[in-house]
Amino acid sequence: MKNKNTVLILGITSIIILISVQVFIVMGVWKQKNELFAIRYTIRSQEALYNIWKDMSTDGFDTVRILLDQKSGEYIKELATLKDEKELENLKQEILSYFTKVVNQEQDLSGLLSSYFESRGLDKNFKYKIVINNVELIAADTLIVYQRKGFTNNRSLDRSTREAPKEVSSSSILVRPGTHLEGNNYRLNFDYYIDFSDKKKLVLKETSASLGMSSMSILLVGIMFMITYRNLREERRLSNLKTDFINNMTHELKTPLSTITVAGKTLEMPQIRSDDVKILETAKLIGKQSVHLNQLINMILEISMWERTQFQLDKKTVKIEEIMNDVVDSFRSGGGNHATISQKYDFKVAEIDLDIVYFTTLVNNLLSNAVKYSDKDPVIDIEGFSIEDNVCIRFADNGIGINKTDQKHIFDKFYRASTGNIHKFKGLGLGLYYVKKIVEAHGGNVTVSSKTGKGSTFTVILPYHS
Ligand code: ADP
Repeated sequence: MKNKNTVLILGITSIIILISVQVFIVMGVWKQKNELFAIRYTIRSQEALYNIWKDMSTDGFDTVRILLDQKSGEYIKELATLKDEKELENLKQEILSYFTKVVNQEQDLSGLLSSYFESRGLDKNFKYKIVINNVELIAADTLIVYQRKGFTNNRSLDRSTREAPKEVSSSSILVRPGTHLEGNNYRLNFDYYIDFSDKKKLVLKETSASLGMSSMSILLVGIMFMITYRNLREERRLSNLKTDFINNMTHELKTPLSTITVAGKTLEMPQIRSDDVKILETAKLIGKQSVHLNQLINMILEISMWERTQFQLDKKTVKIEEIMNDVVDSFRSGGGNHATISQKYDFKVAEIDLDIVYFTTLVNNLLSNAVKYSDKDPVIDIEGFSIEDNVCIRFADNGIGINKTDQKHIFDKFYRASTGNIHKFKGLGLGLYYVKKIVEAHGGNVTVSSKTGKGSTFTVILPYHS
């Protein structure tokens, strides 16, 4: 048990470690692909800007330039009339919104970039964002309308040192940093960002191979672990069964042996030796117990033989009803003398191909179980009929019944139901295993249906001719 738990804990821990490692790797790949994506599109954007400029002699802000210069002239005149600080402040706000609006609405760069990307087979679905750094109006004195915090005119244009501002998502790519527009009446500086809406989808597509491989390896290891664990559990179960079997067998063998020993001692007693009847009785007892001992040993020997070789059936064509009557009669006169056994047969076909010896063992095992696993006077109903080309024989008893879990295992070698292991009911857990083997060797099958405390019904189906 301890061993099993260690394996379980070790297995689960390894799987957790494996999953963590895989998650770490996949996250690394994801980050790398993300960076690659950004680099790829930054390079492409630069290439695009250069080509647009070269082919069309525009940077996409021509209309913006004209509109801003016109309107700035008007604003300068308006400014000259203002004295109040507050009014000045309001006008600055208005100017900034106007600049923002114009630069966003009238620029052609996004459209040009998009067509360029499309023509190169790249993704063209991006959103753009313009972040204004500085707005100045050039009158007699330069008026700073707006200056973004931390902005200096001589700052480096290097993208890598530029941190994305709050209003721009972290996945954005800076395409035109520090774009400077200047007219007669104004100066404007802004950054132009693009952000691919389906970037996640594209990166995921690129990461899918490593993601798939990771999931596969986790799945594979999981399955392998499950199989190993199940095998281990099965081995444990079999080893427990074997231990139980050895205990039961020792117990079974000890009973006739100790009877024989006691009987031998009895025969040594002088008062017994003079009593012929007692001698005969004791001799009979020794004989009976030896036969029982012999049967037990044969049973154990037989099982190892069955394991090694295929069943060698010696089939004969027999009358099924006749053979059933014979087996039941001899059972009645043997161990089943106190059981009430009823028989009802309605076989459509009279003859069947059977190995009589094995078939007798099969019926005997079922009948003796019906008697053995009974807590009251045993009543056994045997019913026989035909289904297509098969004969179906049902053995129903009024015994202690078998619970659902045990029902799954009772045909296994050495298996004894939990109540069966206490020595109240003697046995080696082989009877039903034999039954199943014999039935299967005849090309049939055996099933059980039972309710604890209500009795059990075993159904044997055998083909008439196989
Ligand atoms: P054994 O009788 O030696 O234990 P079997 O293979 O004949 O071995 O039976 C396996 C187990 O199935 C038994 O331990 C018993 O618990 C259960 N069993 C078999 N037949 C019956 C029955 N007719 N009624 C109740 N339990 C049964």
